[in-house]
Amino acid sequence: MIEVSDIYKSFGENEVLKGISANFEPGKISLIIGGSGSGKSTLLKCMVGLHHPDSGKVIYNGTEFTRLSFEDRIPIRKEIGMLFQNSALFDSMTVEQNIIFSLEMFTDMSKSEKIDRANFCLERVDLAGTNALYPSELSGGMKKRVGIARAITMTPKYLFCDEPNSGLDPQTSILIDELIQELTDEFNTTTVVVTHDMSSVMGIGDYILFLYQGKKNWEGSNKEIAHTDIKELNEFVFASPF
Ligand code: ATP
Ligand code: MG
Repeated sequence: MIEVSDIYKSFGENEVLKGISANFEPGKISLIIGGSGSGKSTLLKCMVGLHHPDSGKVIYNGTEFTRLSFEDRIPIRKEIGMLFQNSALFDSMTVEQNIIFSLEMFTDMSKSEKIDRANFCLERVDLAGTNALYPSELSGGMKKRVGIARAITMTPKYLFCDEPNSGLDPQTSILIDELIQELTDEFNTTTVVVTHDMSSVMGIGDYILFLYQGKKNWEGSNKEIAHTDIKELNEFVFASPF
């Protein structure tokens, strides 16, 4: 379980997160939705420690992550897998090197163990045999899948995906959603997905958090979303292509 409690975050004068609280349950997919600039990526980055919130707490299974020093965060960080908004692969590294990067940082696995693990992760995202390719040789959907393979290398307990569907055609987008669902079930991860994609909202997601101008405007299930009379949420839903 990940608990976020009363998170505030500003960049200079720009108050981006204004007191967000939410609970993200293990073994489930939670979605953070909201318009561009509503603070979704900022919240995700506060949760994984890439941004320091100005105030508020992020708690992983009872441990207050936000209170820990950089060194003391490492055991939790090792349990976090993250797919970044633009995949953020290292362009000068091959697919395999991208995937084993965190194993080199955090484990003392032998070379052959690391390669076995890379092969397992690539197979898991249906990209077996692409080890020697460079990111520039991959399509957008393949890059997302390599990003996901990299996120699961360390067998994460917590899986964060920032816009896994952006820039993908609808069919590839559904395949990525199915993959996230399968990985969540297989590893029993606490999965948090940021998306604008309404077909993801209706297809996956046990819990939905809707951000509007840096505040929690609504939370609930995708079954409830159709029956809400929250104006901002309805505007977001109807403005989004299915
Ligand atoms: P999108 O759907 O476009 O990805 P988002 O909901 O993820 O949007 P954020 O990236 O969290 O939005 O940005 C929210 C606000 O915070 C924006 O006004 C943005 O300019 C600002 N912001 C985000 N990151 C930084 C940063 N590192 N420095 C300064 N301002 C930032
Ligand atoms: Mg974003």
